Amino acid sequence: MAGKPIVFIDGGDTLVVEGSIKRDENDVVQSTDPVPGALETLRWLKDNGYTVCMVDDVKNQSVTNVFMANGHLDCFAAVSTSEEAGVAKPAAGIFENAMKKLGLSQEDKKKIIMVGNSCRNDIAGANRFGITSVLMDWSPRHNMTPQNADEVPDYIIHRPDELPELLERLERRNGG
Ligand SMILES: [Mg+2]
Repeated sequence: MAGKPIVFIDGGDTLVVEGSIKRDENDVVQSTDPVPGALETLRWLKDNGYTVCMVDDVKNQSVTNVFMANGHLDCFAAVSTSEEAGVAKPAAGIFENAMKKLGLSQEDKKKIIMVGNSCRNDIAGANRFGITSVLMDWSPRHNMTPQNADEVPDYIIHRPDELPELLERLERRNGG
């Protein structure tokens, strides 16, 4: 556990394909397709002892619906949604809520990485909150060019299955 990064991760276009999302009349997600390699990567993280928290601007029930259906809800140690935190990314409150739910201390904070596809929400949110930011630019849906210094990611990966190698690199850096 010493140097193991703690993984905060976005949903839409990071783990699930935003364009495939089907919602009901209450804006609750009913189903969606995974990003290729995302579920395998979640399972790898779980099997290898990483703490993973989904941090996403959705309703709690949406996360439950999608990840119960695909059998990977157990890969998350916690879930922090905008519904629960009362604020959406990039606001600090949704990240603070994730830390609280995982019982993390200020000392743990330097081990947290946030993986997401939005420079404006995921990357700027992580950078301002003071955690490591990882842009996953798999989806062409958003502008991947940082618009200001806050939106510049610490690391860039292109697909979910590139995450394990990055984590192992960061773990060595952390002295794990
Ligand atoms: Mg997203």
